[in-house]
Amino acid sequence: MKVVDHIKNAKGKTLFSFEILPILKGQSIKSIYDGIDPLMEFKPQFIDVTYSREEFVFTAKEGMLEKRIVRKRPGTVGICAALMNHYQVDAVPHIICGGFNQEETENALIDLDFLGIDNVLALRGDHIKSEGQFRPQPHGHSFATDLVDQISNLNKGRYVDEQIPHSHPTNFCIGVAGYPEKHFEAPNLKTDLKYLKMKQDLGAEYVVTQMFFDNQKYFDFVNKCREEGITIPIIPGLKPLTTLKQITVLPSIFHIDLPDALSDALYSCKNNEQVRHVGIEWGIQQSKELMKFGVPVLHYYSMGKSQSVREIASELF
Ligand SMILES: Cc1cc2nc3c(=O)[nH]c(=O)nc-3n(C[C@H](O)[C@H](O)[C@H](O)COP(=O)(O)OP(=O)(O)OC[C@H]3O[C@@H](n4cnc5c(N)ncnc54)[C@H](O)[C@@H]3O)c2cc1C
Repeated sequence: MKVVDHIKNAKGKTLFSFEILPILKGQSIKSIYDGIDPLMEFKPQFIDVTYSREEFVFTAKEGMLEKRIVRKRPGTVGICAALMNHYQVDAVPHIICGGFNQEETENALIDLDFLGIDNVLALRGDHIKSEGQFRPQPHGHSFATDLVDQISNLNKGRYVDEQIPHSHPTNFCIGVAGYPEKHFEAPNLKTDLKYLKMKQDLGAEYVVTQMFFDNQKYFDFVNKCREEGITIPIIPGLKPLTTLKQITVLPSIFHIDLPDALSDALYSCKNNEQVRHVGIEWGIQQSKELMKFGVPVLHYYSMGKSQSVREIASELF
């Protein structure tokens, strides 16, 4: 079922969902199930599976550097199919511009359509670690707006090769990313929202936000979105903190701030078990306030580690 239909059917009740990463190459699907099993009693309406793009690895060989292309976490589509089969839950694969030309994107979407997947989260993707900035593939997309446009076109039966006869229209519900603290490349929030509005105009039906730790930032973001004419549901993304290292790692990777009260509480922790408790308590308070505000879904970044999400969800769902 489409994410937007889950939201409609809930009639104002806040739903539960979460995101997982594909497992590292070499592990079995059982490790995915082991991470998800403890969360299933809270009846997630959908589970997102991220897409990890390739990396370049350079190894020394006979005095030369040899470049290899490595994907450490493949399997997004296979994991989605496995989840739907194993749990009868809707799986939402993330699909990115990076590393795909339009033809390859289309072929990936055809696979998803044949598997009965109803939703996709359309993203640009980050740049390859060893490259300083995002580079599209030749004949690929530079921005998520272009990817949303391609998926919307496929939903109308318009394929890359316009000569394809008997063109079957897909029926994907398209989600996109939003950034309460602004995407790091955008000159300002207003410009960022201009492109978010463009994604809606091109066919996006819901937004999932980057993680944030200060609900006021989400409330302000939603208000600004509404002022700009963005009317689709805006699902908050929440990350339970689990290690002290995340105080500096999360702001540097995700370009977000931690409120003073949270960083003070974390710095007073003596070990990661104490950090985990602070993260859970913060997550519960954040979630309760967001629920009161009437958010359609609480979406947790579990990163495959379910214990903290489970403890938060058990207070709410
Ligand atoms: C909920 C969520 C899930 C994610 N999942 C993944 C994942 O699975 N895999 C992964 O690799 N990454 C993932 N990311 C990270 C994401 O790919 C990066 O944040 C990336 O840098 C931007 O992606 P986007 O879709 O927001 O890009 P875009 O919407 O393309 O935006 C990128 C920048 O370009 C600007 N912009 C947008 N459209 C245009 C346009 N038409 N013309 C000019 N400028 C434009 C925007 O303002 C922004 O500054 C996720 C992020 C979020 C919030």
